[in-house]
Amino acid sequence: MKKCIWCLQLNNDTTEEHIIPETLGCPPKFVFKDGTVCQSCNNKLGHVDQAVINDFDFASFEADIKRKGNRPASIRSRGNVCAGYGAEGKFIFFNMGPGQVKDPSNNIVAPFNGSNRHINATFMREGHLGKVSFDVKFAISKKFRRGIYKIGLNTLAYFLGRNKVLHDDFNPIREFVVRGKGDRTIFIRACENKNYSNQVWPPYVNERNYFSIVLRIAFIEFLMDLSPDCSITPVVYEKSKEVYGDQGWTCIPKKFHHN
Ligand SMILES: [Zn+2]
Repeated sequence: MKKCIWCLQLNNDTTEEHIIPETLGCPPKFVFKDGTVCQSCNNKLGHVDQAVINDFDFASFEADIKRKGNRPASIRSRGNVCAGYGAEGKFIFFNMGPGQVKDPSNNIVAPFNGSNRHINATFMREGHLGKVSFDVKFAISKKFRRGIYKIGLNTLAYFLGRNKVLHDDFNPIREFVVRGKGDRTIFIRACENKNYSNQVWPPYVNERNYFSIVLRIAFIEFLMDLSPDCSITPVVYEKSKEVYGDQGWTCIPKKFHHN
């Protein structure tokens, strides 16, 4: 029996845990099958994975990343917007009208109601072309950050082995990801190369034996601070300002605490 890195319970599970959610295109072999993440946590933490999947829906649809079970790319969790494949090929369907309508693959699309996942699109005519403009909120929710930190600690276990990650130093990460306790900062940078690509790099370790992880999903690079006291966060903040200036990167939340 071995311990799960999230609940610390002994298990003999062989559930496949994708370190980057499968729907976002997890690199082959970037999985655990040895109970590093037990079956129960694999199920129970699905909602934080989903928060990450949701915010990347347009990126993964554009890149044609297959959904679970090899189903074609689609967007189905936006209320007034649906995307998928219809008789005439790939479509993104916006409903800004007053009532519900059907998209080209016959799914019902709700009218815009201003809620979080809905998209307020504007339509313009430019000569013979119609132009649709819209903004998508990204990485704002705490659940999204929990999902990114889940990928981060899983990645650390992948590179260093689960025993390292069972250490008490990582309890604050577990509390944050599993129970949403406290908050932790993620650093976000837009990659110069806009191709959809998922990548992870081996962890950085500092002189106090604390770790940080950098990984790329789609065309966004994330850095997360896996130290118990968030002491790496202000260091990364200063370094980012020095290296990148004010452009092309941000951290969420904007105000971070040095515990
Ligand atoms: Zn578990």
